[in-house]
Amino acid sequence: MITVLRPGVSKEKVVSLVDWFENQGLKVHLSEGEYQTIIGLIGDTSKIDADMIEVLDIVECVKRISEPYKKANRKFHPEDSIIDVGGVKVGGGNFSIMAGPCSIESEEQILEVAKAVKDAGANILRGGAFKPRTSPYDFQGMRDEGLRLLLKAKEVTGLPIVTEIMNAEHLPLFDDVDLIQVGARNMQNFELLKELGKTNKPILLKRGLANTLKEWLMSAEYIMAGGNENVILCERGIRTYETYTRNTLDLSAVAALRELTHLPVIVDPSHATGIARMVEPMALAATAVGADGLMIEVHNNPEKALCDGAQSLTPDVFAKVVAKVEKIRDVL
Ligand code: PEP
Ligand code: MN
Repeated sequence: MITVLRPGVSKEKVVSLVDWFENQGLKVHLSEGEYQTIIGLIGDTSKIDADMIEVLDIVECVKRISEPYKKANRKFHPEDSIIDVGGVKVGGGNFSIMAGPCSIESEEQILEVAKAVKDAGANILRGGAFKPRTSPYDFQGMRDEGLRLLLKAKEVTGLPIVTEIMNAEHLPLFDDVDLIQVGARNMQNFELLKELGKTNKPILLKRGLANTLKEWLMSAEYIMAGGNENVILCERGIRTYETYTRNTLDLSAVAALRELTHLPVIVDPSHATGIARMVEPMALAATAVGADGLMIEVHNNPEKALCDGAQSLTPDVFAKVVAKVEKIRDVL
């Protein structure tokens, strides 16, 4: 349930209404916008008489929220959330480009790619250290050593970093990581999500391989319910009957999520298509549809990449994509 207050109500009156709701055993989520304050209520609101609240002089209206996701719901928080990723703002009109290799492979590789993507206009560096591979015989990532090299690249370039976590036990290693990625395969690893909810780290939550928007938002809710509201969603394609592309990029999800949630939504055209030459058109389309940013895989030598070379752009091609994305943003 949400209670929308009239503009300009005094702080004392808000506090006394919040106290009253809390005394009814409800959790209160206060959203103080520029023009309006909204009191979101979480818990069993069935005993609350909405008509009685609505007649209070400070209340404009009371609405029941039928969706099971509350904190992620735009009705709870009408204004776009802006997430601070190591000083880079994501969401609310701030466009972010996250780029780097699928996996960190060596110090030379990550430093070279990090410098190149920064020069091309990326503002967040990606690189996988713990890799969720379909086959146990494939390269599993450099793990702790990979994280150490990524942190070095952060130091050298000044770019904030994003990297994937697969196990909550690894959290102590992520202290200096600016944005923790939950990959598609772990979108419904609820125990992991709960642990991340206890931190105050920004979380990049990728869409599961075959998950609905509602399931995805419920996973965001798991993190937010724990008290961590710094969530960014990433559409990375879903599994359909089509096999030409690695996945099917669901761009309508971006438009739908804009209505359903206040959280920023970025698009990963690399994992969505699996084909380097298709990254540019999908990146442009994602920008045009209103995504808050992009995540793109870039490798200095895609043919030799230990993971996802076929979808990785060279730094030169990446720079051209960024320039075109900027043009689309100018048009918007
Ligand atoms: C990745 O970004 O490295 C990755 C494994 O992506 P996804 O979880 O979307 O497959
Ligand atoms: Mn990859």
